Amino acid sequence: MHPLENARRLIEQYAPMCGARDEALRAIDDMLPYCDADLRVCSECGVEFFLTQPAREFFLSRNMNLPHRCKWCRQRRKAAGR
Ligand SMILES: [Zn+2]
Repeated sequence: MHPLENARRLIEQYAPMCGARDEALRAIDDMLPYCDADLRVCSECGVEFFLTQPAREFFLSRNMNLPHRCKWCRQRRKAAGR
């Protein structure tokens, strides 16, 4: 099991019902997609960006190439109409 999933389970099991618990669980949920994420380097601006597992599956399921550019460069190119 992934350490974060393990932490989530422990929090659910032992932390009392309170705002902090919900916050902790939410923080873990936010991080989970990045656990298996690929750290890639943008071919255009050289910035490092994460390709999360769901995003990767999205591209692969559509037989699309995995992105070589960060989302900002992709947005910029899209806006430029290319
Ligand atoms: Zn870029």
